[in-house]
Amino acid sequence: MTQSAVEAPPDVAANLAEVAARVAAAGGENVRIVAVSKTHGADRIRPALEAGHRIFGENRVQEATAKWPALKDAFERVELHLVGPLQTNKAREAVRLFDVIQSVDRPKLARRLADEMARAGRRPACYVQVNTGEEPQKAGVPPAEADALIAACRDEYGLPVEGLMCLPPFDEDPAPHFALLAQIARRNGLGVLSMGMSADFEIAIQFGATHVRIGTAIFGPRPKR
Ligand SMILES: *Cc1c(COP(=O)(O)O)cnc(C)c1O
Repeated sequence: MTQSAVEAPPDVAANLAEVAARVAAAGGENVRIVAVSKTHGADRIRPALEAGHRIFGENRVQEATAKWPALKDAFERVELHLVGPLQTNKAREAVRLFDVIQSVDRPKLARRLADEMARAGRRPACYVQVNTGEEPQKAGVPPAEADALIAACRDEYGLPVEGLMCLPPFDEDPAPHFALLAQIARRNGLGVLSMGMSADFEIAIQFGATHVRIGTAIFGPRPKR
């Protein structure tokens, strides 16, 4: 007998329930699960919405603009987070669509976001992304410049900065990165910490994550772009 080459689609609602149980078991009763739906089509996202989930993350403005307006029309109270790098020329679109922008990482972008928020009369919450591993290819402000950028976002640009986000190096123990992010948040009086993904969210919760960003554990493996 030959087996089908097509893998059965994952049970998204069951996966969500399992992730929620693991988050709670890790002591994260109040932790928000940002379901990262990048690369997945509306057919894969709808079961999560139908199960009552409302917080989602995307990493590309263009892809999100193609998928989410229709889903936001069909389901109320969706909260959409941008978790990928943002080019200044996409700031207008991002302000229009997203409810939270987790990837604020440089003054030029902060200034543009402030301009676009004033123009749109819409103020998505902002998180400053910190490149805790100081990886040259990765977005995020270097840790040593984080305090200054946070201050500029607040005082100079008047952005609604609520927290910090990080994406630790894939091949390192994430714990020191989560600890560093928590330390930067504490000394800047920021209450929101977006850290932890499918492979390490339980550790992130130990270090005070308020938002975990979960893709694979909810939606299954991502198709290649
Ligand atoms: C894709 C992505 C995630 C989710 O990753 P998984 O390992 O699939 O859970 C989280 N955060 C960011 C910034 C991402 O780009």
